[in-house]
Amino acid sequence: MKTEVYAKELKELLMELCRIPAPSLHEEERARFCVEYFRRAGFDAFCDGANNAIAPWNVTETNPITVFMAHTDTVFPDTSPLPIKEENGKIYCPGVGDDTANLAILMLAAKLLKKEGIVPHEGILFVANAGEEGLGNLRGSRKIAETYGDRIKAWISFDLDRKQLFVKAVGSARYRVCIETEGGHSYGDFGKESAIALMAKLIGELYAQPIPQAPDTKTTFNVGTISGGTSVNTIAQKAEILYEYRSDDGTCLDIMKEQMEEIFAKYKGLTVESVGFRPGMGKCKNPALQEKLIRDGEASVRKGTGNTPQQNSASTDCNIPFSLGIPALCFGLVTMEGAHTRKEWVETSSLATGLSIALDFIHKQI
Ligand SMILES: [Zn+2]
Repeated sequence: MKTEVYAKELKELLMELCRIPAPSLHEEERARFCVEYFRRAGFDAFCDGANNAIAPWNVTETNPITVFMAHTDTVFPDTSPLPIKEENGKIYCPGVGDDTANLAILMLAAKLLKKEGIVPHEGILFVANAGEEGLGNLRGSRKIAETYGDRIKAWISFDLDRKQLFVKAVGSARYRVCIETEGGHSYGDFGKESAIALMAKLIGELYAQPIPQAPDTKTTFNVGTISGGTSVNTIAQKAEILYEYRSDDGTCLDIMKEQMEEIFAKYKGLTVESVGFRPGMGKCKNPALQEKLIRDGEASVRKGTGNTPQQNSASTDCNIPFSLGIPALCFGLVTMEGAHTRKEWVETSSLATGLSIALDFIHKQI
């Protein structure tokens, strides 16, 4: 299909979407816009309880389903329209590449496929999903998995740029850890337990823990913030850290959890609060289909751009299907830079080629 003829329509759709603020957990307005768009394209679209705009295509009561999604939410908390401008062949707007351009392409692709009049041999869900970014904690994807469960055969998320295919999930767990002690005067009560000294010891233990090793995996941890204490002459009553660990391997995540719990168990007066969890890789239920998705993704991007994308790991909406063993793939359709910054841009000419990549890839799955 000659997608250049859709370049103008696609750009206009992107601009329209960009103008609707959609911080994580507040995607309602953008979701409503997407539902309306899908309905005008002929789908029985609806919004679920997690702000996902869902357009089912040939989904019966029982048939297997392939999910195609792009997320509506942005990392920016703004609730007023974000600034948008086009200059030197680039469209600048916070969130434009992560993930609004991919969302616009997914929506137009859905409309064009529906117009072709073909009937997919199984069920398809086009989803403009919510809650991908930090605070969203994969809320939209979790809801899709909960609703459609075992019926989901394959799951594709269009996200970020087309230089990479994300073929593995990086799982993570995040905690707020607080130590409280009695404290006291630094001179008069000298010798009493200090929350800061205890926390320093705990951090030392975290950094001395072994990193679980397995072939082709990467596991990391980090104490990202620290705070506490009252004054220079007070034995600290309270100290707090934010701690996370990550891995692209589920077993390594489990080991990190065990090690953390062993360390924490040694400290009295400790409170631990989970502030986020993204599951890692589970055991794939259909390795042949997983391989096919990767090959198809490579081929479609190569056909559109002449370049073969690199295989990589990341934390994306596909963490959910990957953790459940559902064959999944996450890749972007456009050329972009500056994700999660206010200088983010998408190359205007990459929109039409992105549409052809999406159509080529979706055709291979239906
Ligand atoms: Zn994204």
